[in-house]
Amino acid sequence: MLSTTISETNIKQIDNLISSANKIVLTCHLSPDGDAIGSTLAFATLLRKLGKIANVVTPDQPPKSLAFLPGANEIVPYTSSPQTACKLFLEAELVICLDFNAISRIDDAINAFKLNNSPKILIDHHLYPEDFAQVVISEPSYSSTCLLLYKVLNLLGLANYIDKDIATCIYTGMVTDTGNFSYNSLSPEIYTTIAELLHKGLQKDEVYKSIYNSNTESKLKLNGYAISNKMVVYPEHCAGFISLSEDELNKYNYTKGDTEGLVNIPLSIPGIVYSAFLRETIDTNGEHFVKVSMRSTGEFPVNTICERFFNGGGHKNAAGGEFYGSINDALNILQSLFEENDKLIKQL
Ligand code: 5GP
Ligand code: MN
Repeated sequence: MLSTTISETNIKQIDNLISSANKIVLTCHLSPDGDAIGSTLAFATLLRKLGKIANVVTPDQPPKSLAFLPGANEIVPYTSSPQTACKLFLEAELVICLDFNAISRIDDAINAFKLNNSPKILIDHHLYPEDFAQVVISEPSYSSTCLLLYKVLNLLGLANYIDKDIATCIYTGMVTDTGNFSYNSLSPEIYTTIAELLHKGLQKDEVYKSIYNSNTESKLKLNGYAISNKMVVYPEHCAGFISLSEDELNKYNYTKGDTEGLVNIPLSIPGIVYSAFLRETIDTNGEHFVKVSMRSTGEFPVNTICERFFNGGGHKNAAGGEFYGSINDALNILQSLFEENDKLIKQL
């Protein structure tokens, strides 16, 4: 059976695969976040320092808030450059998959991925990795793929190659997957790693500003509208939901990333245990659907709700999915679960 933990054998295999490959493609999940972009860019930069030709191919465009990351301008998004993406996958002698557990998470980039017959490495922290890579390091106890990658790089004996740029990328994933160390952030390893990254030249306060202080006027107004007009809080059920229709998003000139963080807002009310943010959007076939994001505190699992009702998944405290129906239907589902969830919250 495939071993999916950090073992000596897995590290040795990764070492061998990197040694025998010259052209390497690194990829991550659709709608890449700080952890997906941080981990792919960090590893790609390090591989280039080893003399490899390393390219990052993302399924779609990374958010503007991550454009500050060193190497971000060289990313090849499949949606905007499908031909280049296909060529890179076709020629790659090794593919490194970071921050996703299921091949469906790369969406249409599967068309490029399928062209590749070379070995694959998966390094990830989501539960239940699918069997699409020869070497799998899957550690769901890690709060971010970036933290896990840092550990793997150390075990590979490559820590000396980590410079300020690579440290910046690794730290970005650590920050964004823990809400700036406000959840999933009890592991002492996080803080010893930050100390080591600071020694590599990381400017952590600058990274925070680059990620979070990049608001536009329309984004702030959209967030204000969402909170004052579209947030519904159910203190008796320890829940709070925010939803935005396509018309509402258009009214505020929505661009990708403008609603990032809204899902956390209801959770900032004492007593609220779980929250949902629902955003109406359209898929590549022109079909309307609702993108669901959920968050929770403590032991309340939102990934199971997303798996059961929204064709999704994720982590216990941060999950998401897609719902082909109206926002009202999605909200009705969440309301129909109140009784069941009330009981669960009492037990936890
Ligand atoms: P977010 O709410 O930030 O979009 O996603 C939070 C987490 O939920 C992600 O890191 C990912 O693990 C999971 N997730 C979000 N959307 C989906 C989805 O459509 N399908 C699956 N399987 N997981 C998702
Ligand atoms: Mn992640």
